[in-house]
Amino acid sequence: MAQTVFVPKESLADEGRVAASPDTVKRIKALGLDVVVETEAGRASRILDSDYETAGARIGSASDATSADVILKVRRPTTEEIAAYKQGAIVLATMDPFGAEEALSAMADAGLSAFAMELMPRITRAQVMDVLSSQANLAGYQAVIDAAEAYDRALPMMMTAAGTVPAAKVFVMGAGVAGLQAIATAKRLGGVVSATDVRAAAGEQVASLGGKFIMTEALKDASGEGGYARELTDDEKKAQSELVAGHIAKQDIVITTALIPGRPAPKLIDADMVASMKPGSVIVDLAVERGGNVEGSKAGEVVVTKNDVTIIGHLNVAGRIAATASQLYAKNLYAFLETMVDGESGSVAIDREDELVSATLLTHGGKVVHERFGGASTEAPAAAPDDGASPEGEAAPAVEPGTGDSDAGKGNTSEGKA
Ligand code: NAD
Repeated sequence: MAQTVFVPKESLADEGRVAASPDTVKRIKALGLDVVVETEAGRASRILDSDYETAGARIGSASDATSADVILKVRRPTTEEIAAYKQGAIVLATMDPFGAEEALSAMADAGLSAFAMELMPRITRAQVMDVLSSQANLAGYQAVIDAAEAYDRALPMMMTAAGTVPAAKVFVMGAGVAGLQAIATAKRLGGVVSATDVRAAAGEQVASLGGKFIMTEALKDASGEGGYARELTDDEKKAQSELVAGHIAKQDIVITTALIPGRPAPKLIDADMVASMKPGSVIVDLAVERGGNVEGSKAGEVVVTKNDVTIIGHLNVAGRIAATASQLYAKNLYAFLETMVDGESGSVAIDREDELVSATLLTHGGKVVHERFGGASTEAPAAAPDDGASPEGEAAPAVEPGTGDSDAGKGNTSEGKA
């Protein structure tokens, strides 16, 4: 009998993404597995039950989880969900494993083979499985859309009979995956875009998207391990802050995306800089789940300061563009699942020698096996928490202890005055 893959409706409030698309259902079926999708699992991502059915899935209910061999999820399963899964089930999800010892123990005790997709190594073979990139790219896009919505003026320059509307000045801080997409999106909307990063290599990428790269002379290059940023020295921070202070006062929209592996997000914008901005300016702090780049940003909130600067701190920003985020996330999961399916028998098997497996497998055979979480895995070691990911190499990706949490699904707006 064919093994079964179950795709639940995400239980976390405000999580609109789903871990399979009609396209990936079709592909999973072609591997020889059966697929059951919980009714309405795709609704918030604009996928109808009938779309999944047409692709070959059976529509079921939450209770179908109990007999599934593989569970595809967006978020780490809750205690109740874990209790429902059968022993030996494979679970692929964004597990947010740092600081989640209890949940890891619960998954180990339940005999699950739980994989954390965000720990996928950033090597060529695994690019198609890189959930951090697929979701950060969309977060960068959505950040500009959110900023444009909150900005009470037009972004592009418009020359009309009634007068000329100036283009908005958009400044992007941190030009990694999210930042580059923010730059591209702001350009498409007609903004005059500048950007900064502490990695010199980012300069060329910013320029190739039509943005102006600004970087302080005092900071030649702060590239760290594996192509990620290192933390700046105090002198470098001071020089960066002086550069930014002069620039920010002239900006209409600022998008911050700066992260350093294994550290809280660097503070880039202080209260004085926010106070220097014009009324109606907008800041989007994409690093808010990791402590924030902006003084005064609040996780899950939209704050309006005394001088009428809006600071947007939405959580789960990729989840705000759920239909597209699900499409890409589903493909990431499928690509990894495919590597575990035996082409002959159509059954799923875990090869612990595989570097993708050893980098992502958290629990197996009743134990926590990932060595970053106290497991005694003997397979190819993942990076120490501070090393971050290596775009070329073997290290696990940039995830910081305690980043994002079960609140991260509350990607919605509340308003407040700072
Ligand atoms: P990230 O999310 O860790 O950080 C976002 C950006 O913030 C980075 O560009 C970083 O340099 C920048 N930053 C850190 N401190 C800063 C500061 N004080 N001021 C301004 N900017 C600061 O990074 P990411 O987006 O995941 O990507 C980092 C690198 O990895 C990039 O070079 C990217 O191209 C590369 N990458 C490679 C692969 C792959 O090979 N498969 C996949 C994704 C990303």
